[in-house]
Amino acid sequence: MFQITPQLFDKIKHFARFPQTGVSLRQMVMFGQKPSAGTLFKASQFLHEELPIRLAHRVKELHELPYGLGEMPSILKVKDWYAQSFKDLIELPHPHLSQEVRESLKRAQRNDPKQLPPSVPNPSIRPMKPTTNSIHPSGKMTDFFFQISYYNNIDELACTPEMTTYTDTFVKTIENIKRRHDPVVTTVAQGILEYKEKRKANLIDTDVQQFLDRFYMSRIGIRMLIGQHSALYRLPSRKDYVGVICTKTKVHDIAQDAIANARFICEEYYGLFKAPEVQMFCPGDIEFMYVPSHLNHMLFELLKNSLRAVVERFGVDYEDSYPPVKLIIAHGKEDITIKISDEGGGIPRSGIPLVWTYMYTTAEAQELEPEYNRSDFRAPMAGFGYGLPISRLYARYFGGDLKLISMEGYGTDVYLHLNRLSNSDEPLM
Ligand code: ADP
Ligand code: MG
Repeated sequence: MFQITPQLFDKIKHFARFPQTGVSLRQMVMFGQKPSAGTLFKASQFLHEELPIRLAHRVKELHELPYGLGEMPSILKVKDWYAQSFKDLIELPHPHLSQEVRESLKRAQRNDPKQLPPSVPNPSIRPMKPTTNSIHPSGKMTDFFFQISYYNNIDELACTPEMTTYTDTFVKTIENIKRRHDPVVTTVAQGILEYKEKRKANLIDTDVQQFLDRFYMSRIGIRMLIGQHSALYRLPSRKDYVGVICTKTKVHDIAQDAIANARFICEEYYGLFKAPEVQMFCPGDIEFMYVPSHLNHMLFELLKNSLRAVVERFGVDYEDSYPPVKLIIAHGKEDITIKISDEGGGIPRSGIPLVWTYMYTTAEAQELEPEYNRSDFRAPMAGFGYGLPISRLYARYFGGDLKLISMEGYGTDVYLHLNRLSNSDEPLM
C-alpha cells in the first residue's frame, strides 16, 4: 500500500509553492508535425519540471478541503494517486548531460516561426514570461531557457543515446500516470457521495462546486499535456495533425459523428426505432484548430441531453412526430459557435443554476460503476449529472464557453463557443 510519508508531504508542499506554467494550444502546435528527437527530449524535460508542480498543487488542495470532505475514503484514495504520481516523477532521474551537449542545447534554442503550420492564423510568437522564481523546486537553477523550451524545435541537436533512453522512460512513466488517474472522476464523485451521506446534505456547497471545477479543469490540462506528448512520441505523423491536435478540425464531420452516436444511444436507452432527428445547418466547410476528441465529447453530451428532453416530453409513442433538434454552426472571426436547439420543454428558471452543478440530474441516478471509470467519463444516456459541467470545462480549457438558455414550456438552446484564435492562456487555478 502506498503511503504519503511526512517527508514526501514536505516535498509536495515545497513544489506546490511554485506557479504552474501554462501551455496554450498554439504553443503546442508550434512543435510542428514531426518533432525531432531533440525536441521530444526538451519537451520531456519541460514536463518533468512542470507535472510535479501541477500534481503537488492538487495534493495540497485535496489535503486542505473544508468540512472533512478530504477525509472521505475515496478522496483519500485520489490524493494517494496524485502523491504517488508526484513521487514517480521526482524519483525519475534526470539525464546527466555532458558539457558539450549542454552547450549545443543552448545553441539550439531559438524561436522558429517557420514551424507553424500554414493554417495557423497570425503567428504572433510570444515567449512565455519567465517566472520570478529562478530556482526550480528540484533545486536546480532554471532560467528563461527552460520556460521557452517547450515550443522550440531543436532540429540540429544530436541526441545522445542517454537522451533517447531518458525520453523513452519518461514517456512510459507519464503514460503510466495517465492510466493510474483514469478513474479519478468517478472516484471523486464517489467521495462526494460519501460526504453527502455523512453530512445528510443534498446540495453541495458552492465552494465544493468550485473546488470540483478547479480540480477537473486541472485534470484536463494535465491529461492534455501527457496525451499530447505521448502522441507526438508514439504516433506516426498524420496529415493536419500535431499530436492529438487537428489543425483542420472539420466541425461538420465531428458533429455528424456525435449526432449518430447520440441518436444510437437514445434509441437503445428508450427502445425506440427512431430517435428524434437532428438537423444540421453548417455554412460550408468550417475548419479550425482543435482537439477533435474534446469537440466530440461536448457535442455528444449536449445532443444526448436534447434528445432525452424531447423523448421525455412527448413520450416514447410519439416516435414519428418528434420535433427535430437543430444544430446550427456559425463561423465568426473570433469564435465558432454551435447552437443546439430542442423543443424538449426547457428547464424551469429556478433550476438553471443547478444544471451546472456536479451530480445534479433529473434522470434516474446511475450506479457509479467501474466500467465508467474511463478517462473521458461518458455516461451512457443520462444520470450522472456530469455532462454539462464537464463539457463547459472542456470548452473553457481552450478559451471557449458553454451557455444554456431555456424557455420553460418550450425548449432549450445551448451555445457552445469555441475560440478560433487558439492563443488563449491555459486556465490554471
Ligand atoms: P445528466 O444528463 O446526466 O442528467 P447533465 O449535466 O448532462 O447530466 O444535465 C443535468 C440536467 O440538466 C439534466 O438531468 C436535465 O434535467 C437538465 N438538462 C440538460 N439539458 C437539457 C435540455 N436540453 N432540456 C431539458 N433539460 C436539460
Ligand atoms: Mg447529460
